Amino acid sequence: MIVHKFGGTSVGNAARFATVADIVNARHVAGAGTPQAGSVVVVSAMSGVTNQLLAGAWAAAEGRDSECRRIKAELVDRHLKVLEALLTASGERLELEGWIEDRLYELERLYRSIGVLGELTARGRDHVAAFGEQLSVHILAAALRERGVRSRALLATDLIVTDDAFGAAVPMMDRTREALQAKVKPLVTQGTIPVITGFIAATETGITTTLGRGGSDYTAAIVGAGLDADEVWIWSDVNGILTADPNLVPRARTLRELSYTEASDLAYYGADVLHPKTIRPVIEANIPLRIMNSFDSADPGTLIVRAPAADRERLPAIISTTGLSLIAIGSADDSWSLPIVARALQSLSEAGIDVLMFSQSFSEHSLNLIVRRQDQQRCLKTLRVAFAAELHRGAYILGAKEQVATVSVVGVPGWNGKSVVSHAFSALGAQGTRVIAVAQAATEHSVSFCIPEEQVGDTVRFLHRDLGLEE
Ligand code: ASP
Ligand code: MG
Repeated sequence: MIVHKFGGTSVGNAARFATVADIVNARHVAGAGTPQAGSVVVVSAMSGVTNQLLAGAWAAAEGRDSECRRIKAELVDRHLKVLEALLTASGERLELEGWIEDRLYELERLYRSIGVLGELTARGRDHVAAFGEQLSVHILAAALRERGVRSRALLATDLIVTDDAFGAAVPMMDRTREALQAKVKPLVTQGTIPVITGFIAATETGITTTLGRGGSDYTAAIVGAGLDADEVWIWSDVNGILTADPNLVPRARTLRELSYTEASDLAYYGADVLHPKTIRPVIEANIPLRIMNSFDSADPGTLIVRAPAADRERLPAIISTTGLSLIAIGSADDSWSLPIVARALQSLSEAGIDVLMFSQSFSEHSLNLIVRRQDQQRCLKTLRVAFAAELHRGAYILGAKEQVATVSVVGVPGWNGKSVVSHAFSALGAQGTRVIAVAQAATEHSVSFCIPEEQVGDTVRFLHRDLGLEE
């Protein structure tokens, strides 16, 4: 059995949904009669939907009702348009349209109650964020049925049992395995393709949780482990894990085979195609993982296994992330101290804002925080509230400084007999990149730099060439 996971860009519009349904159908047919027969699909919300859902929830909490209504209307419109283009006019399509309208009406009611409370809790946040996947599984299952395959949409809230750490819930594998074996395995055995919601889960008492942003990969790995799958395939929009972002470096090369450890290193440094936690359940179950391209399904992608071939090519990789903001908070005098840093980080974590990197400088009496641009306003607001008294007295300074990117070089031990980290430092010097902050892993063969966003393309291209990654 193969577990296939498709992310938001893979189901970003009707044409993409159709491609996914075709890929799943073709692989399902190809697998029939082989020892790997049987398919399970895990799918994310359509691209941008989770962000929109959450933006609506924040708007609701702040009393911006018209924004909530606009978001709800856009979501209805986008999903109904997909149905119209994807499915033939049939009883099933009509029914699904009605169902989607009902679900999103429920979202509107939820926004209203958040508005009444004037507060968005972590629990409420997860409840809202969970809507997107619930819509996409039904659409994909219907598209598969139209292709003549038996398929059923399933909600992971009935399958994956977690603790109540909303926003980053931790699965209880025994209970989850039981549910998967009881509710999903029989469907697979009879040749039905279950289409399961990524990202979402529920506590033992049935309260909706989420596994963290980008968590659908994690879902796929949990499902794969719980069902004793032969392999888990993560479908993205590039040919596996590459030596650099192919949009910046057209000549970037695919890392064809990686060990679990190498892949989790890359994931932690932000390799977009893999969520860091994904690796854990598959390592424990020793299940091979593949990263495939849904735009180029013939490419073999990247294979991740416990013991890769000894003679495979081993290369460092450059991982870049853009769309980030640098926010600084500091004291005007030398009263800056570590407990203040802790307080800032704590308040942001409680507000559900991911801090992707931070650096703290005693000599400058300040803390530099790197957050996603979409979180910039909320980050500033949260800190403004947390340090209201100090800011009011003029003792502290707070502000967004600039738009930044992070560039990480993740090396392999013993690469070319030298340190990839010092190589990267001198390359950045030679290229004239302004380094704003640095974070180095304890392993000494990986390093992350925060640099101005406008320098990211040139820097990554230069590094790629300078590290000898161009053939
Ligand atoms: N839809 C969720 C998110 O946007 C999960 C995922 O895409 O993996 O974070
Ligand atoms: Mg993802």
